[in-house]
Order: sequence, then C-alpha cells, then structure tokens
Amino acid sequence: MRLLVIGGSDAGISAGLRARELDPTADVTLLVADRYPNFSVCGIPYHVSGDVPEWRNLAHRSTGDLEAAGLQLRLEHRATAIDADAHTVTVTATTPHGATAVVGYDRLVIGIGAVPVIPPIDGLDRLGPADGVHVLHTMDDTFAILRTITDRGATRAVIVGAGYIGLEMAEALTTRGLTVTLLEQVDQVIPTVDAELAEPLAEHLRERGVAVHTGTKVHTIDRTRGGLVVGTDAGDHQSDVVLVVTGVRPDTGLAARAGVTLGVRGAIAVDRGMRTSLPDVYAAGDCVHTYHRLLDQHVYLPLGSTAHKQGRVAGTNATGGNATFAGSLGTQAVKVFDRVVAGTGLRDHTARAAGYDPVTVATTADDHKAYYPGATPVRIPGRCPVGLAWRLPPGHRGSPPEEPPEAKTVTTRGGRDSWRERRSRPRRTRVERMLLGFPL
Ligand SMILES: Cc1cc2nc3c(=O)[nH]c(=O)nc-3n(C[C@H](O)[C@H](O)[C@H](O)COP(=O)(O)OP(=O)(O)OC[C@H]3O[C@@H](n4cnc5c(N)ncnc54)[C@H](O)[C@@H]3O)c2cc1C
Repeated sequence: MRLLVIGGSDAGISAGLRARELDPTADVTLLVADRYPNFSVCGIPYHVSGDVPEWRNLAHRSTGDLEAAGLQLRLEHRATAIDADAHTVTVTATTPHGATAVVGYDRLVIGIGAVPVIPPIDGLDRLGPADGVHVLHTMDDTFAILRTITDRGATRAVIVGAGYIGLEMAEALTTRGLTVTLLEQVDQVIPTVDAELAEPLAEHLRERGVAVHTGTKVHTIDRTRGGLVVGTDAGDHQSDVVLVVTGVRPDTGLAARAGVTLGVRGAIAVDRGMRTSLPDVYAAGDCVHTYHRLLDQHVYLPLGSTAHKQGRVAGTNATGGNATFAGSLGTQAVKVFDRVVAGTGLRDHTARAAGYDPVTVATTADDHKAYYPGATPVRIPGRCPVGLAWRLPPGHRGSPPEEPPEAKTVTTRGGRDSWRERRSRPRRTRVERMLLGFPL
C-alpha cells in the first residue's frame, strides 16, 4: 500500500507514523515543502526569547528518527497538483531549478496547514522581511525575524494582533531586550476569552513594560529613514521590526483545484474519519474544518493538538482502519510572563446561541495540594461557563484579589471542597456535565 502524505508537520507526521504503526509494510512517503519536518511551531516564541537557544531542539523528532520509523521524507518538495482520478500528485523540488515529477499513491493524506491572514493595511503589499515587516508561521519566518533583530540592532518592536501568538511574542521580544508595543483593534487582548481574564492579563503585560493599545486599528505601515512607522487611528508608532500576527486561514488552493469540497471558512470539508469528498483522499490539521463536540457541528479551530489527533485518525483510516475523530472542545492555554489563561468549551454567548442554558460558577482552588510547597490559587471567574482559569503570580498566597464583579465565588480550602459543600451541591444534568467537559 502506497500512502502519500503532503505536509510534514503535526498533521502529516502523525498520519505517517500512525500508518506505519498499524501497517509496518506500508510504503509511506511524505512531501514536505520546507526543510523542517516535525518541528514544534508552537515553540517558536521560546526560541525567539532565548529560552530554547538551539532551534534544532524544537524538533519533536530528528529526520533520522522519522526515517527509522519507516517514513520516507522528500524535504523541499512542494506538491503542486493532485489528480484524484489518476491517483497522482505533481511534485516540484523547491531548490533552484528544481525538477518536477509525478508521484503515484493508493491513499493520500493532505496536511498542508494554514497561511497567515494578511490584513488590509496599506504598506503590507510592498513591505516584507527585508524591510523588517514579518509574519510568523514557519521556521523560515522565525529565522527572518531573528536576522532583522540582529542585523539591524533592533531595539523597538510593534506587534499587530493580540491573539495568543501576539501575546507570546510580546513576552519573547521583551525578554530579548526589545521595547514592545502591542496593537489590537478590538477592545481587549486575547479576544477568545472573557474580559475578566483579558484585562488583568493586559495589566500584567504593562507591568512588564509592554505598551498595550487595545481598540486601536492599524491603517498603514511605512518605511522611513528613521525606521518603520505604524500608523493607527490613535497616532503613529516608530519601530525597527513589525510583526503582523492576525490569525490564519486554511491553505486549500491545492485541494480545491483537485476538486475537493470545501467546508467551514473555506477549509477542506472532512467527515469525522478525516475523509474528504475525493476517493482515497484524507485531510487533517489546520487545512480542514474541525468537529466541535458541544456544538455538534464543524468549526474552524486551527490548533496543533487537534492537528495531531486528526492526523492519527487519517493515518488509521488510510491504512484500512475505522477511527473517528472524537471532536474538539476548543481547549487552549496561553502563558504570558507569570500568568496563564486557559479555556475550554463554550463561552456564555456561544452556548446560548447553540441552545444551551449555561450554568456559570466562580471558584478558586490551589493548583496542587496546599501542604506541598508552592501551591498557588487558580481563579475561575463566574461569567465563564466552562472554566477559564487565572493563575496568580508565584508566591501569592491567600484569597485572590479583584473578584470579578457580579461573580458568585466559591472559595475552597486547600483546593478541596468539604464533604458538606459537595453534598449540598445540586447534581449536574447531562448538559451541564457536557459543558463542564466531564465524562457523561
Ligand atoms: C508561533 C506559533 C505558536 C503556536 N502555538 C500553539 C500552541 O501553543 N498550541 C497549539 O495547539 N497550537 C499552536 N500553534 C498552532 C499550531 O502550530 C498549528 O495548529 C499546527 O502547526 C498545525 O499543524 P499542521 O500540520 O496542520 O500544519 P502546519 O504546521 O502549518 O504544517 C504544514 C506542513 O505542510 C507543508 N506544506 C505546505 N504546503 C505544502 C505543499 N504544497 N507541498 C508539500 N508540503 C507542503 C509545510 O512545509 C509543513 O510541513 C502555534 C502556531 C504558531 C505559528
């Protein structure tokens, strides 16, 4: 059985490894457009900060490990066309004057990920890494940013977009010694969580020297003799490096040209077995839409953890198995300096829109047993139905400050409710248990 995988990151590698695990005789080839198979893109901010000094350590496995597991890697080879009827893929080497070849398959897995969204900012069409203006999605993007910082002796950075990557990079660049300005067009940082969590996080960034401007829309980026100038509706910001991190969209051109049906937000439509609309063609990761367990429908939720699981399902089914992707709860966590914000499930408004009547509760509990040194309270604000946690600074003891307004808070002793408290709590319904992510 010839399994061809397009993509060598979370989704593609998981698919290939799983296929070899289930069928050690399978002939598994991976086409990888770049030179960095199985790298943890999620770890890039920690290389930029210097916490992970050696970039090669971001690889989950070395090329040798992958080959030893039976994967044939064709690095720097880009798939340019899929012929689903003929069961072939056209491949071009990305090296100068790279040759083109046609590769046959019995089963195909597409795991080509996403591409950065480029917002309509005047200047982004003409400025790029050579000018100090960057996106951040790949190892090559990372090296380009580091070159700008080193070669220009950059001391000032402007980050456009305060999603989780923008926040992680604000920490990374500050740790590296740059003065960082964070610009976000909506009224809070990390717009995927409730304001009760976002506001203290913005405050924490300011305490660490990051200039945070929310409700600030960027209109222009210009290159002048004094450096880059980022123009917003609330004034200009001078900088040596500008990082635009305003989200991603699925990379689906290749699949769409082959006739694959597209789904939510233009991502490749797959069923829960990661099958596309084309025979013998599977897809996984940031290029596909994702089944959401609570909404019981597909959404676009590009995350590495999800890409791994979907890749495993695709690899299983491509080798004749019958696996089903259980679905996502949208769980995510972001650490920014000494704080962590995490969320899972639906926020109030999404839950209501989906027909739930969400139960909200606020609580505070130690992150581990209070008798063991270093326990710190974790706060779960009341307006967040499914538990968005707020970890207090290391060393903080006792009740957390700044209770969220209107929040009903249950404070537990040593992270554990008493028997009486547990008994007096009403039994949770099936829907409540689902919302809280408990087993049913
Ligand atoms: C800075 C940063 C931090 C992140 N942090 C987190 C985090 O903490 N937690 C989390 O869950 N997610 C995180 N993510 C998101 C996560 O990295 C992605 O969800 C994940 O990498 C998606 O994996 P993928 O395999 O679908 O696609 P990608 O990682 O985008 O990989 C696509 C692969 O396809 C190859 N490719 C593309 N086109 C072709 C082609 N035509 N032919 C051949 N090969 C091709 C590429 O070379 C690459 O190997 C982060 C992302 C970034 C940028």
